[in-house]
Amino acid sequence: QFHKSKGQHILKNPLLVDSIIQKAGINSTDVILEIGPGTGNLTKKLLEAGKSVVAVELDPRMVLELQRRFQGTPHSNRLKVIQGDVLKCDLPYFDICVANIPYQISSPLTFKLLNHRPVFRCAVIMFQREFAMRLVAQPGDTLYCRLSVNTQLLARVSHLLKVGKNNFRPPPKVDSSVVRIEPRKPAPSVNFKEWDGLVRICFTRKNKTIGAIFKQKRVLSILEKNYKTLQALQTSQGNGNQVVTDASVLGDAGELTMETDENDDGDDDDDDMEMDDGEANGSDFKEKVLGVLRQGKYEEKRSSKLAQADFMHLLSLFNQAGIHFS
Ligand code: SAM
Repeated sequence: QFHKSKGQHILKNPLLVDSIIQKAGINSTDVILEIGPGTGNLTKKLLEAGKSVVAVELDPRMVLELQRRFQGTPHSNRLKVIQGDVLKCDLPYFDICVANIPYQISSPLTFKLLNHRPVFRCAVIMFQREFAMRLVAQPGDTLYCRLSVNTQLLARVSHLLKVGKNNFRPPPKVDSSVVRIEPRKPAPSVNFKEWDGLVRICFTRKNKTIGAIFKQKRVLSILEKNYKTLQALQTSQGNGNQVVTDASVLGDAGELTMETDENDDGDDDDDDMEMDDGEANGSDFKEKVLGVLRQGKYEEKRSSKLAQADFMHLLSLFNQAGIHFS
């Protein structure tokens, strides 16, 4: 009856639903976005608590069931159901998002919400426990990673509730947690692609030193290519003093996905064993990069211990040296 591929695990514990509603802090004037309403157990309580609910559901059978459930009730005109993939549709205006989502869309959904405008007040979302712990992890925590750093740049994140598998039907394989995500207002003024470009590199091997990471040939060559493209642009525009910040001409930093260090075999010499190609420019550029790291005393540090402010500082030092990441 339920589709595993669509992450269909229905909340069957009414006390848990009540507790989620209570922790969400819904106002009676709130427009609520629900993602993956399923059979509507959460939807019903959301309708009671807020002004209206917009629910996005992928499975047409669930959409039908939902409509049947609320048809002819006083709630029906305050519920709008959109059938489709939440990652592909335009989201409507909402004040608050409350959802028990399919876990396979956790990362892209989080960033879709954080990029949504106008900025909403908060999102209260059920995630797989490990994903939730990554979202809230602090420097020095085992699960601290690119996802933690990027989410916490854009939002305050807090853990609300631990939820065991047996609260769902059918029970998923993993435990869950409810997390609150409150977008920072105003949004940070940093260029997110630049930021993520740096953080992505720093966390490719989070237990290596920053110095070792930036000595890798493939990292240096990407950065040098960016650097040269920007220099050429500035020269051709005849405004050598002006820093070009529109880096859209450069390679894409790639899409946001959760990165893990599972493949980190501790092998430090991947690229460093290659013969030096003797390019004078190449080693100049390497010195330039290492100079930036030394300037901020980052060479011997590890990403696993760096705070938001450290990444921000490191990015500004790189940018001052004309080195860009997007
Ligand atoms: N909210 C319900 C509850 O708590 O009982 C059901 C939650 S179930 C974990 C996830 C729901 O999301 C399912 O109804 C599934 O069909 C729906 N879904 C899966 N992928 C989706 C997507 N890409 N966009 C929107 N809904 C999706």
